[in-house]
Amino acid sequence: MLIFLNLFIIFCMFVIGTLFGSFFSLATYRIPRHQDIIATRSYCTSCKHKLAFFDLIPVLSYLIRGGKCKYCGEKISIRYFLLEVCNGIVFVMFYLIFGYNLKLLSVCLVYAILFVIIGAQVMKSKMTDEEKNEIKKNNKKGVFISELIVALIIFTIFMASAFILTRNYNRNINKMIARSNAISLAVYNMEIALATDYDSLFSKTTTDNIDNIDYSVTTSVTKYSDEDFEKEDLVKKIDVQVDYMFNGENLSFDLKSLKGKVL
Ligand SMILES: [Zn+2]
Repeated sequence: MLIFLNLFIIFCMFVIGTLFGSFFSLATYRIPRHQDIIATRSYCTSCKHKLAFFDLIPVLSYLIRGGKCKYCGEKISIRYFLLEVCNGIVFVMFYLIFGYNLKLLSVCLVYAILFVIIGAQVMKSKMTDEEKNEIKKNNKKGVFISELIVALIIFTIFMASAFILTRNYNRNINKMIARSNAISLAVYNMEIALATDYDSLFSKTTTDNIDNIDYSVTTSVTKYSDEDFEKEDLVKKIDVQVDYMFNGENLSFDLKSLKGKVL
């Protein structure tokens, strides 16, 4: 079950990454040209035809159209496709390295900011003289800071909403992982208690830290009843309790067993 949920997050991260890649293409192309990056719909750079919603699906649209513009048949640079795919992979890698938390959000944001700033400069250097002259005619110089800021604000909103939408979902997954770790610890300590000889009775508390969560494991081995011991029908009661804290909530997992022999 957990592996499927994890694969689902990886898939979502890939999709978010490709969406970002698609947006990076747009932003780095338009910013040096002083074009609006929000209101103006995406268009084919050769025939200027506005693209419909289905033409804008990252990765898939490119594959379905065989890398050609639906309207003029002009070849679309594979750079767009590769950027989307690579970006999807980068986002998945960030998730695998940092986990799903605020660190991931900051890393993705820093990455997005650097990408737009450097990408816009690279795209600016690739502009044709004709394009440069047109900008000069319109009396615009260099990269507009306001355009960069708009791009960054959009990234921030985009990232933050993606994270807010999936935060609860992810918290539940982490809670399940924490519980499964608690169960593993309980079973492990139970096995040890079961392997000890019949006569030893004890109670001890050990601590363990898994994935930054502190687990306190209390193992107690007591007599099942005095009567049983007198009859030499030795029965021990083994109780393992694992206490841990998850998101400010005190949780515990209890495992009980009996071990006995009839002489
Ligand atoms: Zn076209």
